[in-house]
Amino acid sequence: MSSIFLLLLALLLSFQSSSSVSVGSRSILRVVNNKNNGDQHDFAVDLNATNFDAVLRDTPATYAIVEFFAHWCPACRNYKSQYEKVARLFNGADAAHPGIILMTRVDCALKINNILCDKFSVSHYPMLFWGHPSKFVSGEWEPKQEKSEIRVIDDGRTADRLLNWINKQMSSSYGLDDERYENEHLQLNMSDPGQIVRAVYDVEEATSTAFDIILEHKMIKTETRASLIKFLQLLVVHHPSRSCRKGSAEILVNFDDLSPSDMWSANKEESVTGNGNGAMGNFQICGKDVPRGYWMFCRGSKNDTRGFSCGLWVLLHSLSVRIEDGESHLAFTAICDFIHDFFICEECRQHFYEMCSSVSGPFNKTRDFALWLWSAHNKVNDRLMKVEASLGTGDPKFPKIIWPPKQLCPSCYLAGSSRIDWDHDEVFKFLANYYGKMLASLYKDKGLLGDGGTNRSLVEDLAASTNAVVVPLGAALAIAVASCAFGALACFWRSQQKNRKYLYQLHSLKNI
Ligand SMILES: Cc1cc2nc3c(=O)[nH]c(=O)nc-3n(C[C@H](O)[C@H](O)[C@H](O)COP(=O)(O)OP(=O)(O)OC[C@H]3O[C@@H](n4cnc5c(N)ncnc54)[C@H](O)[C@@H]3O)c2cc1C
Repeated sequence: MSSIFLLLLALLLSFQSSSSVSVGSRSILRVVNNKNNGDQHDFAVDLNATNFDAVLRDTPATYAIVEFFAHWCPACRNYKSQYEKVARLFNGADAAHPGIILMTRVDCALKINNILCDKFSVSHYPMLFWGHPSKFVSGEWEPKQEKSEIRVIDDGRTADRLLNWINKQMSSSYGLDDERYENEHLQLNMSDPGQIVRAVYDVEEATSTAFDIILEHKMIKTETRASLIKFLQLLVVHHPSRSCRKGSAEILVNFDDLSPSDMWSANKEESVTGNGNGAMGNFQICGKDVPRGYWMFCRGSKNDTRGFSCGLWVLLHSLSVRIEDGESHLAFTAICDFIHDFFICEECRQHFYEMCSSVSGPFNKTRDFALWLWSAHNKVNDRLMKVEASLGTGDPKFPKIIWPPKQLCPSCYLAGSSRIDWDHDEVFKFLANYYGKMLASLYKDKGLLGDGGTNRSLVEDLAASTNAVVVPLGAALAIAVASCAFGALACFWRSQQKNRKYLYQLHSLKNI
């Protein structure tokens, strides 16, 4: 009965997806940001009553500024270039400080925005507001309102003054001349556990980048197909981002059409579409707005440091704590094979595969696999610490350390020893919270996940996808099949455990 309901629901949603235009807010952002104004780009994002909530809900930025203006107002027209000078620093992939503040504007002279401007009691033009993006969603502001989480920017009449006001709020030192990759202003506190919240965007970015690299370098071959499929199955069920779970499911279910098995055979190198990747080349695994072109948690202080490989580690750790006990060995082999076949850094994949090959027995517990991955990562850190120190190739703001540092997890360290002595139970507890609950908490805050992103059901996922990409029937089935595969193993393992417990109890009773 429930499977019939599931099928009907999936059918309905897949019909919706084919008949409606996606209005995902990130795509609106992209469209708006690319708008040309003569020769000049507008960096501030134009919002209106239709996209206001969606854009502010979905932005990865920590803060938002909303400028209410009227296009007929001469002062607003003069102010535009000042506002744009600041928006250039924060908006778009070429921004000097992307992902921190989303700068937007709403034209109150447009009828469509009347109610919106009323809700914010706009009393003059231009009028600027500051707050966490989520506070603007379905939000309002009144002049006499006490303790509002949205504030009026009272000193932003020029670009300099606006940036000063921002710097005061954030204790930052942004400058109007800052350029991309001059990240010395990067405010970091590696011992701040809250930083990981931003990594959920990097996990999407890394997934999408990995997939792009696979296609660009034509890495799907007869001998590597199986490991990609296995990894996609893991992503379908356990990726912390719902859009990536959906995208992985769609690829899986269409895998044969997107990348026909004979496509990579010796005499059939030509692709279906001519770009060498078949229909797969047109597919974006985490939705069409990712990759965004910048990193948040994994942002380096130099152009060429951190980024993708950092995001990939975070993805692997987040998968390792999400799997069930019974899935741990499958997850281990899926990750080892994926890195071996698809991580294009030769030294990295070889070293990692050596560590994989030295594992003797199968993993039976999430804890064991998560701790193995953590320890493998620390071995890499330990090696790179020396290499980077001697060659000066590391990121000066992010030197390699044995992780987690004491400030981040005091209880991970056993007292009374001069060398590092780990309390492995505490380390696992820390990893599970850090890469599990905390990493997904931003989505939870935004109401995009019901349970911290761990085991949300397929029906919930499908039913919740109302506006952007809707999962087609095939993808729904793929999720179901992949869930069953991983779920069946988990069930089998659990029943084994139960049997073992039952036999043990029986045995104990006999001995009484
Ligand atoms: C599988 C794999 C193998 C690699 N092998 C090599 C190699 O052989 N040679 C090479 O030069 N580069 C290698 N790299 C790249 C390298 O490990 C770093 O990713 C890169 O130098 C960027 O470093 P980072 O400072 O951003 O931190 P990263 O090491 O990328 O770590 C990302 C984040 O993970 C957290 N973290 C750090 N250590 C741990 C841990 N032990 N457990 C859990 N979380 C942790 C920290 O918050 C850190 O900021 C590899 C990357 C991957 C994904």
